[in-house]
Amino acid sequence: MIWADYDAVLFDLDGVVTPTAIVHMRAWSEMFNSFLASWDGEGDTAPYTDADYYAQVDGKPRYDGVRDFLTSRGIPAPEERVVELGDRKNDAFNVVLERDGVEAYPGSVLLLDHLRGLGVPLGVVSSSANAPAVLQAAGLLDRFQTVVSGTVATELGLPGKPAPDTFVHGAEVLGAAPAKAVVLEDAVSGVRAGAAGHFGLVIGVDRGAGVDRLTEAGADVVVADLAELVPAEGAGA
Ligand SMILES: [Mg+2]
Repeated sequence: MIWADYDAVLFDLDGVVTPTAIVHMRAWSEMFNSFLASWDGEGDTAPYTDADYYAQVDGKPRYDGVRDFLTSRGIPAPEERVVELGDRKNDAFNVVLERDGVEAYPGSVLLLDHLRGLGVPLGVVSSSANAPAVLQAAGLLDRFQTVVSGTVATELGLPGKPAPDTFVHGAEVLGAAPAKAVVLEDAVSGVRAGAAGHFGLVIGVDRGAGVDRLTEAGADVVVADLAELVPAEGAGA
């Protein structure tokens, strides 16, 4: 890996820089358990657990997760209640983030340190509207010259991943042609976005998607941890 060959490096956030899923899982649990404790209508009000998360919520848009969980418990799920609880989950995310913080993957910090030493411009490209808050909580906001969050994408009218537009915009802000920029992604849709944007190098980070799926989606290389991308001492940049 010759980092000096590239003019910019673009990181997805959740699952690449920070294990943000932990914060989301805690927020879902706090929101649903406070709702269940106060619900006296029909349905099963046994406490919400991680098993509910994996069965009903994981990977879905927020409101769909709320609707499917309520339905799984036989609790009526009119749109009003779905939206209210979905919004409460978003509030809970910010409360948990501020209270518990979030620690970046140690291997990712090693790579960020290495790239800072080389002076390569760095950016975050995330579908999440919370991206700046997560970076702030992890103490890494000052490492990136640009953060293309979900909010920025909406403001600029950029379609989300798997469309390449948010990554292309990030490269542009950093003054790099996509062919001279690197994308790091843990999600199939994000790897697809990097491949569709004809980036110089698309690195898949396997946090569970699997080497085969990330490779099929267009990753040039797949690593399990970003520390693998830090050249050994004395091996050059
Ligand atoms: Mg991700």
